[in-house]
Amino acid sequence: MKRILLLGGITEALAIARTLGPEHVYSLAGIGRVPGDLGCQVRVGGFGGAEGLATYLHTEKIDLLIDATHPYAAQISANAARAAQLSGVPCWALRRPAWQAQAGDDWREVAGWAELIEALRPFRRPLFTLGREPLQHLDEIPPEQFWTLRALEACPGNERCEVIGARGPFHLEDERALFERRQIDVLISKNSGSTATEPKLDVARERGVPVLVLKRPELPGVDREFFAVDELVSALNL
Ligand code: NAP
Repeated sequence: MKRILLLGGITEALAIARTLGPEHVYSLAGIGRVPGDLGCQVRVGGFGGAEGLATYLHTEKIDLLIDATHPYAAQISANAARAAQLSGVPCWALRRPAWQAQAGDDWREVAGWAELIEALRPFRRPLFTLGREPLQHLDEIPPEQFWTLRALEACPGNERCEVIGARGPFHLEDERALFERRQIDVLISKNSGSTATEPKLDVARERGVPVLVLKRPELPGVDREFFAVDELVSALNL
């Protein structure tokens, strides 16, 4: 029987984990919720880089590594590919397809924080949906801007920034209300490709609000790539 280590942290990974029996391991970084109702083993926390992960694969006698982490979690994906090389264990990956711009969208890709700040200059009321990174820059908010920042956990903002703690899925009506209440004139987003967070893009389109899209990181080549959970699960042939 082959033993699987599944690297997760997103909805699709949890769906794969639900198909795994007790000999397999589902691994989480430890920043989100840890499910308590899985048939497989669950472990939480880092491995100590690619070398640490390679050691884990060896000592735990893992036969297949599956990278089903978030498309912007580039470090763990790089570690997975490297650990697979070091240990000789094959690596498969679930690569979530990106959102595609539709008619009426005004998307502008930015490569990183410096480019993002430059692209934000013409705007007054940005909504950040990138996670916690903007919290490090609250002291740099230009006097003409008022930020709204949504992250998993609420935390203090300042007089120029409201921080909202909320977890998806987000609903169209609530997103409409948020854009209206905060008079959002630009949205900042990763291109996560998740249906759970997509309604904000619909509202941006409805209101003619531009979207600054953080460029996706490059992910490493692996033995097999899948673009849908059911394809990967059926290839496992458990
Ligand atoms: P990252 O920068 O790629 O990884 C940072 C470190 O966290 C890794 O080097 C690894 O530590 C540890 N790690 C990450 N995923 C792990 C996993 N599934 N099991 C064990 N250790 C893991 O990742 P991140 O962007 O901070 O994201 C952390 C986790 O949250 C990921 O699992 C990802 O799937 C999930 N997530 C991320 C985002 C996002 O926008 N980035 C959004 C939703 C969910 P060691 O080097 O010590 O092994």
